[in-house]
Amino acid sequence: MSESTRNVDVLIVGFGPAGAAAAIAAHDAGSSVLVVEKTAAGGGNAIYSGGFLFDAPGDDAADHVDALSFGRTPRPVVEAYADGLHRLADWLRGIGAETVVFDPPPGRLPASFPSWPHFPAGERIAYRVVAGGEGRRGEALWDALARAVAERGIEIVYETAAHHLVRDEDGAVAGLVVTDDGSEREIAAGAVVLACGGFEGDPGLADAHLPLGPTFPVGTPANTGDGLRLAGEAGAALWHMYGFFGWFSFRTPEFPSPFAIDFFAPSFLFIDAEGRRFADETGQEVHDRLRALMNYQPHRENRPRLPSYAIFDDAARRAGPLNGLLGTPNDYVWSADNSAEVDRGWILSARGPVELAAKLGLPDPDVLAATMDAYDTAARAGVDPLFHRDPETLVPLAGDTLYAIETWPGVAGTTGGPRHDECARVLDSNGDPIPGLYSAGAVGMVWGFLIDHGGGLTDALVFGRIAGTTAAGE
Ligand SMILES: Cc1cc2nc3c(=O)[nH]c(=O)nc-3n(C[C@H](O)[C@H](O)[C@H](O)COP(=O)(O)OP(=O)(O)OC[C@H]3O[C@@H](n4cnc5c(N)ncnc54)[C@H](O)[C@@H]3O)c2cc1C
Repeated sequence: MSESTRNVDVLIVGFGPAGAAAAIAAHDAGSSVLVVEKTAAGGGNAIYSGGFLFDAPGDDAADHVDALSFGRTPRPVVEAYADGLHRLADWLRGIGAETVVFDPPPGRLPASFPSWPHFPAGERIAYRVVAGGEGRRGEALWDALARAVAERGIEIVYETAAHHLVRDEDGAVAGLVVTDDGSEREIAAGAVVLACGGFEGDPGLADAHLPLGPTFPVGTPANTGDGLRLAGEAGAALWHMYGFFGWFSFRTPEFPSPFAIDFFAPSFLFIDAEGRRFADETGQEVHDRLRALMNYQPHRENRPRLPSYAIFDDAARRAGPLNGLLGTPNDYVWSADNSAEVDRGWILSARGPVELAAKLGLPDPDVLAATMDAYDTAARAGVDPLFHRDPETLVPLAGDTLYAIETWPGVAGTTGGPRHDECARVLDSNGDPIPGLYSAGAVGMVWGFLIDHGGGLTDALVFGRIAGTTAAGE
């Protein structure tokens, strides 16, 4: 390993929104800053994201986060987060990113704003996005952050991964061992900020911690839990390891990442691998849909929701592209009426449930036929006795042609990782701060059970700012 050639005040691992916010804050506090980024470009998951941010008035914000976390995040951390939420729009304006209140367009199913109307912030919650990013709001946010970092002359070294912590004789974190081009070198620093995302891209960590599997990352594949490993070297305590959010997603060997699936007309339902419905298809909060896959079926032989299938009619096929609402690392544009994906064989079509069941390889075609009959009866009556789906979205499937797409759990983010305090200091198992080590964002989020729209990006930006400022004071 080559000897340390650099010495900076604040060394940041990862150039996503948490790393960018930390870099800006540390620089503006007077520190020299260096960011190491594993991939060839910054942006992390922000560039694929919906770009949603949120806030709620006064104490509502802290009460809301507290309630969604089921009390599993210390109140001082929640309050620091809430305070940062209140200041976020001004901070973004200060770096040249004007935000506007988001008015949800009609049509997406399930309707998803506000995320959790029955939790403390209720309808008082406000969602914001960076102005001017009509097509890709996450990219607009990222462009503003990257521009602010560039304007400050902050150096980013790409294709350089943090590999180990360097610690001094007292155990304080004093830099990093990084790898680039296969060789290792050491960078000395007064403080290290872990801002390198979650662990959804590491099958072993996902298997060890997430409550169902296999799962597949729908965003960057680079989030492989490196922050968890680095923090582990310093004896960090962990929190929220079970938490994750994501969507039903289609996988094909033709592309590396799964495609998250959305519907724009209500004539669809989900079935398991035996052909039975298993959920209120339009009732689950948008981040929380995968929870429907977690119940094991004790009287069945298999894992009947891995995979599962979305079944839909021609109206739903024509209503909008099943993928495209959010970004994907795949270099592919889904067709507006899903016809290209039918032609590719990604979406199967059949004349009736028995033929469709045969094409899907379901063990007993009659099960799907019975499911479709029961759904049709429920939809015509406006009452779903199995899952109490909203009568507004309980719509019969029309026409002779049925379509189906296979789906797997696609993970957009994990919440678990090193535990931090309200100053973004990483804590050890005694609850004491590990000198020199900070964290922000998806490397270990505040969210303790459920998550709201905007919860990922705001955690990254709020705690990125806090981490950068506190680390600069080292
Ligand atoms: C499709 C999708 C839609 C989403 N929509 C929203 C939304 O609308 N609102 C919202 O709030 N959240 C959303 N999220 C979540 C949000 O994008 C993340 O919570 C947020 O990007 C986390 O920011 P971060 O900086 O902590 O991590 P990331 O954005 O994941 O960035 C981490 C960075 O660290 C780098 N890295 C990893 N390991 C190393 C290493 N060893 N050394 C150096 N660098 C490393 C990675 O390459 C990456 O660039 C969405 C996510 C996805 C995938």
